[in-house]
Amino acid sequence: MTSVNVAITTRPSSSCDTELAKGPWEFDLSPGYGPGASEDDVIPAPVTRPGQLPVAYQRMSDEELHERIRNAKKALGDRLVILGHFYQRDEVVQYADFLGDSFQLANAALTKPDAETIVFCGVHFMAETADILARPEQRVILPNLAAGCSMADMADEDSVESAWEELMELYGEEPDADGRQPVVPVTYMNSSAALKAFCGRHGGIVCTSSNASTVLEWAFERGQRVLFFPDQHLGRNTAKAMGIGLDQMPMWNPRKPLGGNTAEQLDAARVILWHGFCSVHKRFTVDQIEQARAEHLGVRVIVHPECPMPVVDAADEAGSTDYIRKAIEAGSPGDVFAIGTEVNLVNRLQAEHPDMTIFCLDPVICPCSTMYRIHPGYLAWTLDGLVEGEVRNQVSVAPDVAADARVALERMLAALPEGRK
Ligand code: SF4
Repeated sequence: MTSVNVAITTRPSSSCDTELAKGPWEFDLSPGYGPGASEDDVIPAPVTRPGQLPVAYQRMSDEELHERIRNAKKALGDRLVILGHFYQRDEVVQYADFLGDSFQLANAALTKPDAETIVFCGVHFMAETADILARPEQRVILPNLAAGCSMADMADEDSVESAWEELMELYGEEPDADGRQPVVPVTYMNSSAALKAFCGRHGGIVCTSSNASTVLEWAFERGQRVLFFPDQHLGRNTAKAMGIGLDQMPMWNPRKPLGGNTAEQLDAARVILWHGFCSVHKRFTVDQIEQARAEHLGVRVIVHPECPMPVVDAADEAGSTDYIRKAIEAGSPGDVFAIGTEVNLVNRLQAEHPDMTIFCLDPVICPCSTMYRIHPGYLAWTLDGLVEGEVRNQVSVAPDVAADARVALERMLAALPEGRK
């Protein structure tokens, strides 16, 4: 395990972002957008800002930080549950009571009724989702409030509201003869609570990367077309697999009138794709897949559906983090997997399955740079606060927003077949 107080790499050129080569506290103050994200964007108001850990914690040794975390965990007992996302760094994940994707984790917290505090070692939208689903007496803490998600930040509420107004003006608000509304908004789980609430209010729904096609089918039963945000790639890959043509999937650029489309293009649209992407998954390329195949005979290539379409098309399979994990668990000794997803998960899978060869398609170290902001120093500081009776870095969704967001999440659960909820 690497030391918590050194940068992720001492060789900046081997990381996808030179920012990651900085010390953790210096990195902590750099802008919250990840490598490759739209850094020229005006950062919308609700986006979390760089955190500032008290200097005393910045100066603590690794040993002291870990001792504090262990002691606080022991003192808080069942009153605390710590959730660790698959993409979280190992120094933090070792303290998690549950490890999973964002929706699995939000639900896992519900199985701990005695936990008054849920500490979510993930990013901001995940903590919001946990707060939406948590019982009223439970509170949610995100150890570093600057741990946002560059993809979620690419669709802010104002831009989506303006897009919706333009679309309503174009299509009208009346349903067609079959009772289908002109547009159904579908948001990926990786979005702010405000956008989940938007979907709740406008007959829309939430999806995850493992249920996106089921959710799109649900939406097409109720609407003539879908506005899908924030991830264009998940939207495109899913709709294409359902037989929808690329010419029926215009992209919506929020800075241009009609999203940069003509009225005719929007008339023919089945899925309108928001101009968003994950800065980690957009780095995977077809060349990397070809190289993996050239170097490893019989390699099985599995990529996440947040990867660009040519990469998903070139891979053997595409699926969510849970799909990838299960595929590897079902593998046999000697199997070789090339994986197109975040490097912390891939490295952990390799450590758990030493009898297989499992490697990340991207040879350059590219962690989710926002999740990386959950340093053990922040975990120690927030847990110490709880022991002292002080709640630090709580993420709290306003009750009216949470109620609307819950509607969209419940529609997703209702759309799923039994056994997949
Ligand atoms: S991996 Fe991508 S989508 Fe996931 S939290 Fe990080 S930036 Fe967001």
